Amino acid sequence: MGSAEDASLDELARRVSAARAATEARGETFYQGASRVHLAAFPPRERWDDWVELSSRAWPAREERHYMLVPTTCFNCESACGLLAYVDRDTGQVRKFEGNPEHPGSRGRNCAKGPATLNQVTDPDRILYPMKRSGPRGGGGWERVSWDEALSALAARIRAALAEGRHNEIMVHIGRPGEDGYTERVLASWGVDGHNSHTNVCSSGGRTGFQFWMGIDRPSPDHAHATVIYLISAHLESGHYFNPHAQRITEARANGAKVIVLDTRLSNTATHADYWLSPQPGSEAAINLAIANHLIQTGAYDREFVRRWWNWAEYLTECHPGTPVTFEAFEEILAGLYADFTFEFAAAEAGLDADVLAEVAAVVAGAGHRFACHAWRSAAAGNLGGWQVSRTLFLIAALLGAVATEGGTFPNAWNKFVPRPIHVPPHPGVWQELSWPLEYPLAQNEMSFLLPHFLADGRGRLDTYFIRVYNPVWTNPDGLSWMEALCDEDKVGCFVALTPTWSESAWFADYVLPMGHGPERHDTHSYEQYDGQWVGFRQPVLRTARSRLGTPVSDTREVNPGEVWEENEFWIELSWRIDPDGSLGIRQYHESRERPGEKLTVDEYYGWMFSRSVPGLAERAAAEGLSPLDWMRRYGAFEISRGRGAVHEQEVPAAELSDVSVSPLGRVYSAAPPAADPNIVPAGTPPHDEDGRRPAGVIVDGVVRHGFPTPSGRLEFWSSTLAAWGWPEHALPGYIRSHVHPSRLAAGQVVLLSTFRLPTQIHTRSANAKWLDELAHTNPVWIHPADAARFGVGRTGDLVRVETEIGHFVAKAWITEGIRPGVVACSHHMGRWRLDGGPRGAGGMMATVGLSRGDDGWQMERRGSAGPYESADPDSQRIWWTDTGVHQNLTFGVHPDPISGMHCWHQAVRIRPAAPGDQHGDIAVDTRKARQVYREWLALARPAGQVSPDGTRRPHWLMRPLKPSAAAFALPVADRDLP
Ligand code: SF4
Repeated sequence: MGSAEDASLDELARRVSAARAATEARGETFYQGASRVHLAAFPPRERWDDWVELSSRAWPAREERHYMLVPTTCFNCESACGLLAYVDRDTGQVRKFEGNPEHPGSRGRNCAKGPATLNQVTDPDRILYPMKRSGPRGGGGWERVSWDEALSALAARIRAALAEGRHNEIMVHIGRPGEDGYTERVLASWGVDGHNSHTNVCSSGGRTGFQFWMGIDRPSPDHAHATVIYLISAHLESGHYFNPHAQRITEARANGAKVIVLDTRLSNTATHADYWLSPQPGSEAAINLAIANHLIQTGAYDREFVRRWWNWAEYLTECHPGTPVTFEAFEEILAGLYADFTFEFAAAEAGLDADVLAEVAAVVAGAGHRFACHAWRSAAAGNLGGWQVSRTLFLIAALLGAVATEGGTFPNAWNKFVPRPIHVPPHPGVWQELSWPLEYPLAQNEMSFLLPHFLADGRGRLDTYFIRVYNPVWTNPDGLSWMEALCDEDKVGCFVALTPTWSESAWFADYVLPMGHGPERHDTHSYEQYDGQWVGFRQPVLRTARSRLGTPVSDTREVNPGEVWEENEFWIELSWRIDPDGSLGIRQYHESRERPGEKLTVDEYYGWMFSRSVPGLAERAAAEGLSPLDWMRRYGAFEISRGRGAVHEQEVPAAELSDVSVSPLGRVYSAAPPAADPNIVPAGTPPHDEDGRRPAGVIVDGVVRHGFPTPSGRLEFWSSTLAAWGWPEHALPGYIRSHVHPSRLAAGQVVLLSTFRLPTQIHTRSANAKWLDELAHTNPVWIHPADAARFGVGRTGDLVRVETEIGHFVAKAWITEGIRPGVVACSHHMGRWRLDGGPRGAGGMMATVGLSRGDDGWQMERRGSAGPYESADPDSQRIWWTDTGVHQNLTFGVHPDPISGMHCWHQAVRIRPAAPGDQHGDIAVDTRKARQVYREWLALARPAGQVSPDGTRRPHWLMRPLKPSAAAFALPVADRDLP
């Protein structure tokens, strides 16, 4: 760096200091900008009640606009970044959304989707009133109904189902939760095991690998302090918590950290990597094991950490009887376990250069405890056995001892905080086999994407089925099987879509009930984004603004557009109508504590939570003369702690140890309850001892320490759970060859990567944002030039047919060297559609299609594309693009991993030039073939009835979002007659 530049940086630093001093001298908060060249980036919070900006439209006249800045939380991905709504004090409308500098996770920064929240709020196509189907399901007939009518009808159905013992006919299917536990609490209050999720089409594979190590299913990398960052995803642009993580990765890079990226595509993340590896899809675990083997063979692992924290003694005892249970004996065995995973072997599997792998391994070895790693969807979600991608990744961290260290990787539960709510209903006493079938006792989450097949098998029916933030026909594989199921009233009696906008699924609903976008609803959430804990608060910003101006609001519908509501108030009202006199025991969980016999309000719900369940918040609020609720309404997020550190090393206080029992390998059980632990994140609940004592810690070198929530209390290199539940061959971190391994591809087949995101779109939720649509509206098929030549694809833009096992889709080719030969890729964000005659839906993002069924199955044809249209928003006349991409997921059969339950997204496909008459976006699917694919994958499962070691359906200690009572875990006798 030259001296002139040094001088200018010094000058900038001086100016920043001066600006800070001047701001603080005024008694105001100084929020420094994101880079060294910015002075202040955000309005001081002391002026949030009346922030003045000049109107850009009035320029050159100096016309002042006065804003109230109200925090809320973005709902356009799982990162839950803080937003500030700029509420115009004159019009009472939100004029823009910017970042909230008070938010500890996002620190004022957002991706493009955050500010685009405004597009969703002002979307001219959004649903404003409750709608009820008239005519046949999916026929397009709708009538507006009152909330009162809709609530009464739904309450009557649910009440009847509960009264008749049909608890398992009630289901709420959730896409992006966006909150921590509210919906599960509602379902528990109804006594139903009706929570379903999207997780098995998203992150179950990644979670499973971490869960079997730690008893906790997510990693929390401390990127900012790492020296080596190892990512198996496009994490900087679109991974899990990508904006909060990306800014910390960027900081680490500025401090010299090396970034290693495994991504078959040349993603934006790969372009920023120091080492970009483009492996053959499915070979990632082999690469991880080669690096692990290097650490083992060269002795570059943290012996002391492995000795203290791995369950090697249990492994030796169970798998090597007769071998002395000493660490030295274990090391000897360990040296042989992965000896075959040479760089040459991994290079052959991955199609990479062994020398490059050796170089990467040396970089990893040099990281020591500052090794931050992450795998979430990507390879873990793409492949049969993909869960071993994260299990082998964590093997590297566990060898390095980079677990809960500065710059290392933490268990997420230590960097997350879920406050206790005002009422906690008991666990439901029933088991929902449509979500948790006996074939998948170890599934990380609900087997959601198999629901149409289970209904077709006659395994059950649904009386009332809700979806929220979820579009199953579009999001899942095999969407036309979903459509068939949802159109069958014998299978789904009443289908309710809780949604702000029309979608492919809502079109088949019986009720479409308008719910608010991010700034129109309440939620709390907390996500692991660094070594600390915070709680965020999503709130309806106009409700807060109006209350602050002296007009209290008691029902969020008063401030939302039309009759748009929020789910919290909706669930309270529905629960009251299900149990109007309290005789079902439901109403008590939705009643006020302050005013017994009256309905709980959201103010009381969150006021109670923030006053009693968030450590430090009451004191912080009191210091500013505010109630905890008002403090959260003013600032939007609260940081509870920083630097949680190595929680597993903490000694268990003597007060928590009484009437103790100790297992032969040092697991400590206690009859004493745990001390009030502020961390009540749901995690695995390890088994109790035979006398019912709870697991309280583990003895390490003679001291009882907190340990990990696994059965052994240690990190489980060897999983007793996998071994006992029918999968002993996969109890160690290992390599499972994918269903798209080259040896399994037929001649002419290539692998289709279908799991990647575009940075400016997230599934279906962001599609009504016009700014985002303009930025990204197409999903061509990436094809390497060599493959293009092989398949006769002449140029970028030419149409190709992509043939899957159940059908095909027609898309445009993008010929690029950014993908390896033998692999093609297509983003899953695009291809939104509406049936000809259906509602406009997502405006510029939706194509109009015709759908017909013949002897060969379903055919979808394009009848209209995006283009200008009239609406209340003049910008809808300015849509210049016509391409809206292709909906590829419809053409994928279901691929449930037999262990994790994850849908294995990668596809073995053939690429051909489009046939005469093919049009962009055409789709053909034979759902009879889809049934066959389902049966083939189902046959890979090992049902609980055959493998359960203890007569239960599932290891009780494994996590479940909504856990039934212990009694409900018992295997029914009839399970031995599985279909
Ligand atoms: S969409 Fe962008 S701004 Fe919104 S939560 Fe996700 S990363 Fe943050």
